[in-house]
Amino acid sequence: MAALPEPIPHTATLMDAAIVAKAKSFDGAGIPMSDVANECDRAIWMKLRWTSPPERPEGQRERRFRTGHQYETWLLDDLEAAGVEVARIDPATGKQWRVELASGHIRGKMDGRAIGLPEAPKTEHVVECKSHKAEIFRKIVKSPIRESKPDHFAQCQLYMHAEGLSRCLYLAANKDTDEIHTERVEYDPVYCMALVARLERIVHAPRAPTRLHEDPTAKGAFACQICTRLAQCHEGQFSRVNCRTCLNSEPRENATWHCVRWDKPLSYRDQQEGCPAHRYIPDLVPAEQVDVLDNDVVVYRLADGSEFRDGEGR
Ligand code: SF4
Ligand code: SF4
Repeated sequence: MAALPEPIPHTATLMDAAIVAKAKSFDGAGIPMSDVANECDRAIWMKLRWTSPPERPEGQRERRFRTGHQYETWLLDDLEAAGVEVARIDPATGKQWRVELASGHIRGKMDGRAIGLPEAPKTEHVVECKSHKAEIFRKIVKSPIRESKPDHFAQCQLYMHAEGLSRCLYLAANKDTDEIHTERVEYDPVYCMALVARLERIVHAPRAPTRLHEDPTAKGAFACQICTRLAQCHEGQFSRVNCRTCLNSEPRENATWHCVRWDKPLSYRDQQEGCPAHRYIPDLVPAEQVDVLDNDVVVYRLADGSEFRDGEGR
């Protein structure tokens, strides 16, 4: 007898579709703090420059975000229940604490500030809550996050740097067993100053920083193999057309962008739309630049010998 076909999971499919429909997919105005530990300067720069389409929401990923938020609330609730005073909202704004660095182009949301920890009752701490699968949780318990979770260490450091605090309480939960673990992280000014200087340099770089790896298929090029910019960085795909990929745009103070061609500030909507005077930052064209014509058209030669004329026909 022929095997019965696998049943189609209609319910799960519909549940996924429902959560995806509610999710937002958009270009972030800045770089999230969670990305600053990326060892590739170019990947951070390309994200800021909106080279690739924003990630499409997926049911499983959206649920993972939701689980993370839920754990954050539980951990803060439990911290308060233990007698620690926790401020989850910035009284100046009435919203979650926002932290901005590098002219406002690097940004994050801090989980809270706490005072009254038994280990140091008078010291105000940044609070950062994270949930992990068991394997990662075990690593965090075994060694400080500086070694076991450098991306989270960077976040904690930058929050302390921006808030002028000297300690951070890192609160971790194991999603498989619901164990918890705490680590008090000490502010490291030398680390922060070096990281902030690096981020300032990346944000204000008019050209793409050099690649982390020239051969993304090399054994050690793991970062490239999982990089969301791989297609535009290594595989000859053109970047999107918007103000951020245009050589006339500049990031300015207070997270603003400016067009030097028309000498005007660019709103988020302006940046998304671009204009007919868009000319690619040359590093974002997968070809060699060979000429600039009198009519402001930039000529490139592609790998197959054909020409791409940037600015013609727009
Ligand atoms: S593909 Fe590799 S070199 Fe290119 S941006 Fe990503 S990590 Fe950097
Ligand atoms: S020239 Fe046009 S596309 Fe380029 S930055 Fe100015 S407004 Fe944007």
